[in-house]
Amino acid sequence: MCSLELLKVDLKGLKEEETSLDFNLDDAYFKALDGADVKNGSLHVSVSIRKATGFFEFQFHTEGIVIIPCDRCLDDMEQPVETDNRLVVKLGSAYSEEDDVIVVPEDEGILDMAWFIYEFVALVIPIRHVHAPGKCNPAMTQALEELSADRSSDEESNQPIDPRWEKLLKLKEKS
Ligand SMILES: [Zn+2]
Repeated sequence: MCSLELLKVDLKGLKEEETSLDFNLDDAYFKALDGADVKNGSLHVSVSIRKATGFFEFQFHTEGIVIIPCDRCLDDMEQPVETDNRLVVKLGSAYSEEDDVIVVPEDEGILDMAWFIYEFVALVIPIRHVHAPGKCNPAMTQALEELSADRSSDEESNQPIDPRWEKLLKLKEKS
């Protein structure tokens, strides 16, 4: 759990104009967040925080791998991820989020980066993610092949002939 505590930035405690932070996040991080999309992974996150007049600019560089189920065989696979993101953080009366502008209550002054990083990563996972060719679970691959062979033969036998083709075929027969 202590890795999650490190992801909380005390904005009022930032003395320097520029602050750089580095984190390695592992399975414990994903387990603690318990998000729907990613349960395991290993990430390196570099954050640079710039103190400006009236706001803080956060630049994130996140890269590593996440472990997610393959779309084809459902076994776990490693998906490489890399993403650059920016947040503008302001102090205000109540917490709010609008696009990439986050307002943090002034009396607390804490930005918790944990879910932001999770969301940055979840957004760059390709919609279709599958193992490299030949790396899928062999039993599942075989079952899928049998299934798709069945399906295509069904389609062939049940498919009515396109009416335009039918006409052409008749013309051809006549000639
Ligand atoms: Zn697979």
